[in-house]
Amino acid sequence: MFDQLSGKMSGVLEGLSKNGKLSEADVTEAMREVRLAMLEADVALPVVRDFVNKVRERAVGHEVLESVSPGQAVAKIVNDALIDALGGAGVAPLNLSAVPPVPLLMVGLQGSGKTTTSGKIALRLSSRERKKILLASLDVQRPAAQLQLQQLAERVNAITGLVKSLPIVAGQSPVGIAKRALETARREGYDIVILDTAGRLSIDEALMDEVREIRSVTNPAETLLVVDAMTGQDAVNTAKSFNEAVGITGVVMSRMDGDARGGAALSMKAITGAPIKLTGSGEKLEALEEFHPERVAGRILG
Ligand code: GDP
Repeated sequence: MFDQLSGKMSGVLEGLSKNGKLSEADVTEAMREVRLAMLEADVALPVVRDFVNKVRERAVGHEVLESVSPGQAVAKIVNDALIDALGGAGVAPLNLSAVPPVPLLMVGLQGSGKTTTSGKIALRLSSRERKKILLASLDVQRPAAQLQLQQLAERVNAITGLVKSLPIVAGQSPVGIAKRALETARREGYDIVILDTAGRLSIDEALMDEVREIRSVTNPAETLLVVDAMTGQDAVNTAKSFNEAVGITGVVMSRMDGDARGGAALSMKAITGAPIKLTGSGEKLEALEEFHPERVAGRILG
């Protein structure tokens, strides 16, 4: 992830630092190269434009060009602009502040990593914060999905002893299961209920209607969209559609361990308005990290 972009961006900035003095033309040329590098990394075009314009505007000022080390000053401006594009300084934490049981709604396309991520979040919150967690699969299209979540819950429970899955009852609707999950969690004193909705192969009205209905019945503290980082711009378009149709509060980007070019991470906030809250970096249940824009910017600039 980010390797190619990182190589090119740090190359451009190194080039600038070699010059003792910088002219406006040097900055313009560097920004042309940054623009190409970002487009090659699959960053959305409006985001690239905005990024390059912002950096150029800040970098051609007198204080920058005439400073002692203008190359370093421009590098700092690029670094700050990257942090902005990645969602701003600091992590965007999960909002768990509602009265327990706190519902977390997981949405996304089939195969995005939604069920795995539900298990990863359950492990994280039960091991680090000692939260008691109920997992419920609302996927009535694929009976295997409910079993998959049940097995995940058993695996996490073997580690922390605080995670159960809602018993499977055949023939219930997704909304019916969601209501039963909340009732069970209330009755049995759970802190958090993770509701894993059904995914489809593509975005359709039936999927969005179902998510909207579940949302209005459960009033989740978070509606987390799981997207596959490897799908690049498609991940961003998916997020845009989900946000417009059902409203999402955050994104979990899975498969950050793959060789994705990084464009999705850089476009997500600007295009969808939703921050990346967590990232998945492998199939293991422990492979879930908070998203730190400063660290990612640091990695991109080497
Ligand atoms: P769902 O259909 O959205 O629920 O997707 P699943 O959770 O079943 O995940 C689909 C596949 O992706 C599984 O084989 C997971 O092990 C794998 N997977 C999920 N997250 C990650 C990740 O962050 N990295 C990698 N390499 N694989 C992942």
